[in-house]
Amino acid sequence: MFNFSYQNPTRIVFGRDQLNQLAKLIPAGSKVLMLYGGGSIKHNGVYDQVVAALDGFDWQEFSGIEPNPSFETLMKAADLVREQKIDFLLPVGGGSVIDGAKFVAAAAVYPGDAWDILANRGKVAQAVALGCVLTLPATGTESNGNSVVTRYETQQKLSFSSPLVYPTFAILDPTVTFSLPPRQVANGVVDAFVHVIEQYLTYPVNAPVQDRFAEGLLQTLIEEGPKALSNPDDYDVRANIMWAATMALNGLIGQGVPQDWATHMIGHEITALYGLDHAQTLAIVLPALMQQQRVQKRDKLLQFGQRVWQLSHQDEERLIDDTITHTRAFFEQMGVPTRLADYGIAADAVDKLVAKLEANGMVKLGEHGDIDLDVSQQILQKAV
Ligand code: NAP
Ligand code: FE
Repeated sequence: MFNFSYQNPTRIVFGRDQLNQLAKLIPAGSKVLMLYGGGSIKHNGVYDQVVAALDGFDWQEFSGIEPNPSFETLMKAADLVREQKIDFLLPVGGGSVIDGAKFVAAAAVYPGDAWDILANRGKVAQAVALGCVLTLPATGTESNGNSVVTRYETQQKLSFSSPLVYPTFAILDPTVTFSLPPRQVANGVVDAFVHVIEQYLTYPVNAPVQDRFAEGLLQTLIEEGPKALSNPDDYDVRANIMWAATMALNGLIGQGVPQDWATHMIGHEITALYGLDHAQTLAIVLPALMQQQRVQKRDKLLQFGQRVWQLSHQDEERLIDDTITHTRAFFEQMGVPTRLADYGIAADAVDKLVAKLEANGMVKLGEHGDIDLDVSQQILQKAV
């Protein structure tokens, strides 16, 4: 296992009725900006509960944060934070709203052009504090320091990370996920699954504790994911998925092990150019990447197939083939198609996507840094 230094500062408040903790979690006397998306929280009662909790605070709201939040919209929120001297951000929503609020937190107090935070590794030296209410289990953003933002004008989807944008608290009430449409339930399960894979499916470093954490999360998502679609009102299913998605990307399982975020990086370009949901892009890229990198990932592919998919063939090449087939079939079973063509995207997209990867400097991806533009091209060709 590699050396590491790990701290996760987010307080998780989990369970039914836990929105009633909200008022206590926000520092007294804060000037609060509540941020949300397109209005799902107005249909499922979450908005009303948050407004009730904010009684007594000096607060305002900012709505209209898009799925795959836009730099353009978020800069308007950052202006508002500065003008109104807001000192606490309260995103209420899915990954897009929470990621968006993290960028607002950094951009509002950034001394230069805030685009540099995303495009030129501009240093985030300070950020407005934030705490969140999660409504869509998927990204893990509720307890990590990552944020992904899209500049619509230039079709660039870029990310930044900073310890300063970890939410101070995250309220996870599984009952608020009952209102999710099946497509978003499926997206969430696929995103969390791929987050685990990207911290697991690399090469062995004698870290059985991390491997077993990862395998447990993968098996949980495989078992519970389909139940959330067939049995949408089952609280325990929702609760297990919600906690699994947080655990998938709160930093814990990635400590001391190699990581490979190539599926996410290639997927971001597909969203930037063609507007697909984040998880749809991952379902397209991952099976193709597993096939392309089967030599580099051989030991872990065999372990993944044996332990998670319970395969026991003697022939190792067949075992790897079946591991990839099972993974693809799981995404399809969740209702997320796994090929570019399934979304009406033709083979000529491959060169455009590779050009975007090059423009964004995504030229040495993977746990060995060996996924260069040629390899990305081959992965995308396999994904057509
Ligand atoms: P999302 O984009 O936040 O939300 C998708 C849709 O679900 C929205 O239309 C939203 O509607 C709706 N929705 C949310 N909660 C709902 C509920 N309880 N009931 C009904 N509808 C609900 O989806 P996401 O998958 O959570 O986030 C995706 C973003 O996160 C992408 O930009 C991706 O790149 C990023 N991401 C971040 C990380 C990270 O570590 N930070 C990791 C992976 C991905 P409203 O807008 O009306 O609320
Ligand atoms: Fe993701």
